[in-house]
Amino acid sequence: MLKVGMIRCQQTESMCPGTSDFKVASKGLGAFEETGPVEIIGFNSCGGCPGKNAVPRAKEMVRRGAESIVFVSCMGRGTPIGYACPHFESIKEAVTRAVGPEIRIFDYSH
Ligand code: SF4
Repeated sequence: MLKVGMIRCQQTESMCPGTSDFKVASKGLGAFEETGPVEIIGFNSCGGCPGKNAVPRAKEMVRRGAESIVFVSCMGRGTPIGYACPHFESIKEAVTRAVGPEIRIFDYSH
């Protein structure tokens, strides 16, 4: 089972408990239809705008066993409030570079 570390938008964590992310991970739905169910080894936020804590947090999740980093849908798709992260591409690029090519990156969860 693929081990994933999830990164979310800090702006939405005050109201969204990430229910859909846990559901698609455990059932192999959404972004995980190809991999099947995945094991969440960490669920953390970007640290707040402009998201500079995403890099050290992603690296720490990899150190703790994550084989993949998942940017959950509040970041790239703006769910559930309909406002995507304006820094998403920069964050994704920085994290992808920091964790290296062996770590699979998902840019949404559901
Ligand atoms: S940087 Fe993006 S993902 Fe992070 S809190 Fe701000 S809007 Fe949300």
